[in-house]
Amino acid sequence: MTADVSIRNATKVFGAFRALNDVSLDIAAGEFIVLLGPSGCGKTTLLSILGGFLEPTSGTIAIGGKDMTHVAPAKRPTTTMFQDYALFPHMKLSDNVGFGLRMRGMAKAERDEKALAMLDLVGLKASAAKKPHELSGGQRQRVALARALAVDPDVLLLDEPLGALDLKLRRQMQDELKAIQKRVGTTFIHVTHDQEEAMAIADRIVVMNHGRIEDVGAPSDIYMRPRSLFAAGFMGEANFLPGRVTGITAGEARIETALGRAVIPVSAFTGGMPSADNKVTLCIRPEHFRSAGEDGATVALGRARITDSAFFGAHHRCHLQPEGGADVVVTAHLPQTAHPQPGDELELAVKADTIVALVEGQETRS
Ligand code: ATP
Repeated sequence: MTADVSIRNATKVFGAFRALNDVSLDIAAGEFIVLLGPSGCGKTTLLSILGGFLEPTSGTIAIGGKDMTHVAPAKRPTTTMFQDYALFPHMKLSDNVGFGLRMRGMAKAERDEKALAMLDLVGLKASAAKKPHELSGGQRQRVALARALAVDPDVLLLDEPLGALDLKLRRQMQDELKAIQKRVGTTFIHVTHDQEEAMAIADRIVVMNHGRIEDVGAPSDIYMRPRSLFAAGFMGEANFLPGRVTGITAGEARIETALGRAVIPVSAFTGGMPSADNKVTLCIRPEHFRSAGEDGATVALGRARITDSAFFGAHHRCHLQPEGGADVVVTAHLPQTAHPQPGDELELAVKADTIVALVEGQETRS
């Protein structure tokens, strides 16, 4: 089962503190949504409001077109899976998975059949008679997922479910979680502060900061076309180069930065169009820098000198400074075949479609 979710102007205030600030979001049925942001940004507060464990101070929540704002958790078509998945130690796996069904009065034979089907879904059918202590951390996590899905929620809410696992297992479970979500088609809303996890599993990522949504989009959209400085910086590494608009003509903006003069397409402005004299920030990923004249690098940025360089296998990670711009340091990943040395001077450039620009005052949604 699956359902769409509509959050309208949700705000949650604790005392004088606004943990969630006027959040609106539409989630399609069957989407895998990840709420991503630093500790304290309001992810868990939003998830708790969706699960019914908290009521919003204002705003509304609808699931499957029905208003759920004041409906108790047990009466919602949602299940929440927490990080400490609290399996019953004395119960075998099939009884753990069937527990919610028993609470709903399902007969034993039917319950066992459903529990086995769910254990099969997570690859643990053969272990149905085992107890939780006989399992690895990853297997216990899968049982918790089977238990959460056994009651056929329309929406599964997952609060850092992989947080307790070591990195290798975490990566493996991310792939499994994504595959299982695609198989069952249930709407998943998953909280994490791990940007790589978000990219690995999400159909769409919701980047949050200070109780607000900063950006929403497919992982590649947010990485390539972030609409706020915060989203650009949280989704991977970015150089933020301050500049000023010196002129705008059809389709192009002339920008002055510490590196020099650049002409960028106005389509680089993801948060709103600039006006002449606006202060702007150019966001450039380290791997998007090229040497001027290199294949497709049509936006020349200016000259800079390499201050240090380290070999990272796939690329050289270099820091560069423009002449006379002692307070500006740019990080660039130069190709393996380049042999960058400290002291070398480069004409830095980028491909037009990899540059993002934000006007001051529009660079964050909050
Ligand atoms: P984390 O990743 O650390 O769990 P989060 O993004 O999930 O962070 P929330 O748990 O939603 O953050 O909390 C958002 C803010 O609201 C935090 O500053 C937190 O201290 C505050 N907060 C949450 N619950 C309460 C509460 N019951 N009373 C007071 N403040 C609260």
